[in-house]
Amino acid sequence: MFCYQCEQTAKGTGCTIQGVCGKDAQTAALQDLLLYLTKGISMYAHRAGQLGARDREIDVFTIEALFSTVTNVNFDPERLKNLIHKASEIREKAKALYETAAKKTGISTEKPGGPAVLVPAGDLAGLVKQGEEFGVLGRKAKFGEDIAGLLELLTYGLKGAAAYADHAHILGVEDDSVYASFHEGLDFLTKEKYTADEIVGMSLKAGELNFKIMELLDKANTGAYGHPVPTKVRVEPVKGKAILVSGHDLKDLEELLMQTEGKGINIYTHGEMLPAHGYPKLKAYKHLVGNYGGAWQDQIKEFDKFPGAILMTTNCIQRPGASYINRIFTTGLVAWPGAKHVTRKDFSPVINAALAADGFKEDGSNQEILVGFGHNAVLGVADKVIDAVKSGKIKHFFLIGGCDGAKSGRNYYTDFAKKVPQDSVILTLACGKYRFNKLDFGAIDGIPRLLDIGQCNDAYSAIQIALALSKAFVLPVNELPLSLILSWYEQKAVAILLTLLYLGIKNIRLGPSLPAFVTPAVLSVLVENFNIKPISTPDADIKAILG
Ligand code: SF4
Ligand code: SF4
Repeated sequence: MFCYQCEQTAKGTGCTIQGVCGKDAQTAALQDLLLYLTKGISMYAHRAGQLGARDREIDVFTIEALFSTVTNVNFDPERLKNLIHKASEIREKAKALYETAAKKTGISTEKPGGPAVLVPAGDLAGLVKQGEEFGVLGRKAKFGEDIAGLLELLTYGLKGAAAYADHAHILGVEDDSVYASFHEGLDFLTKEKYTADEIVGMSLKAGELNFKIMELLDKANTGAYGHPVPTKVRVEPVKGKAILVSGHDLKDLEELLMQTEGKGINIYTHGEMLPAHGYPKLKAYKHLVGNYGGAWQDQIKEFDKFPGAILMTTNCIQRPGASYINRIFTTGLVAWPGAKHVTRKDFSPVINAALAADGFKEDGSNQEILVGFGHNAVLGVADKVIDAVKSGKIKHFFLIGGCDGAKSGRNYYTDFAKKVPQDSVILTLACGKYRFNKLDFGAIDGIPRLLDIGQCNDAYSAIQIALALSKAFVLPVNELPLSLILSWYEQKAVAILLTLLYLGIKNIRLGPSLPAFVTPAVLSVLVENFNIKPISTPDADIKAILG
């Protein structure tokens, strides 16, 4: 196997024997084959789309297949086998869609090869053997390190964007042009020859696509649950039976809240579900009592101690420990062999497991943190913020956010947040915030110095806030007193990075290490065009930023 799609890749170069995430060689090959066949689907769907023919089943399957190959989502060979066979069926449907559309318009049909024609084997062993041919190593041999790395940058951007498109689609918000862009991007990935410039161009297009999707997801979340409002969240247990909900999918949380109402079970958020507390329609459920634990990489230790059932709605799942394998459940596209899979229509197995477990024996302390600073909440106090900047009480904004992870070096973000001068405000989002979100940063004229904007996809909110500041001070975003200190882990972060580059945002500091697929030649292009920098030390970076 070879995989270097996430930040924790082995030795900073690539996982070759077993993924650090727990992905084995079999699963890696199956994911590579699924991705390959999905490109085949898009070869037809893109051509059909250009002739005005679309099919929603094909479109939705495409984003689900991509999301299933994102880090820490699907580790189950049987589920992947089924997805591969479904991909083959969907590809036939896409082929028929294209050929019918071509016939109607009287043009001769193209006969794409490769991913458009490969017949998947019937059994698991055969599929694994096929998948081994379609990994990164083949592309490195064919195109060289730089072009292969750029192709992976685009691929991972599309995977991350697909995850967000799936969240929005679950809430009923979709857009045909979004699906068309996925097919265009995946079809592009089947070409035989590339220049670096055209891949960079397509990657920025993927950034634009992801911006549109984050906007759709913002509409989906706020349309369904209202705009987040500043909300205090308890981070200590409450005595009683308990369910912990992790991942990013608010719809799953809502369904679980409905299905547990009046059953005497307290619901806790975990990881990226924390921002749910700020949404008016979710916080209205009294048994949504608080948040438990920190970011995804601490789950083995924390889930072991959690005395109830656990529901994983999306990434990031890790290999479940023996002490909780019988009380952890997956739903949606998440899968781990041995963990029971449930659908959001019926969470009764999760509820029964919670009722059978001990629950918390006593209340913890009353410690609380503050969440709910989406664009609506922040722009609602924009006048106050602008006045504070004009009077010199706020001198700088630091966006310190992104994914958390297990590798060493991530305490940089804790140290950085602690060292941010008292006259500066910290904006944060995604699970990287757990590095510092229980610290007390105080306030400036009633404005909290730490503003939790939300999940990783709420980068959309951060962009809206930056645009509002830019308008208020009549300055380009790159000239605002605003610095982006980002941490990345998996492909959603790659999608967001491409969005920021598409928007022309410069001077981003990225860590804890740079992506392994970004070769020195590609890095020099990114530095030249966007002045991206690796993080160094908090002191040196703060000094360089503030002068
Ligand atoms: S997803 Fe990350 S940890 Fe898992 S195999 Fe790939 S590079 Fe390794
Ligand atoms: S922000 Fe990234 S690392 Fe964190 S839980 Fe979400 S997908 Fe995983």
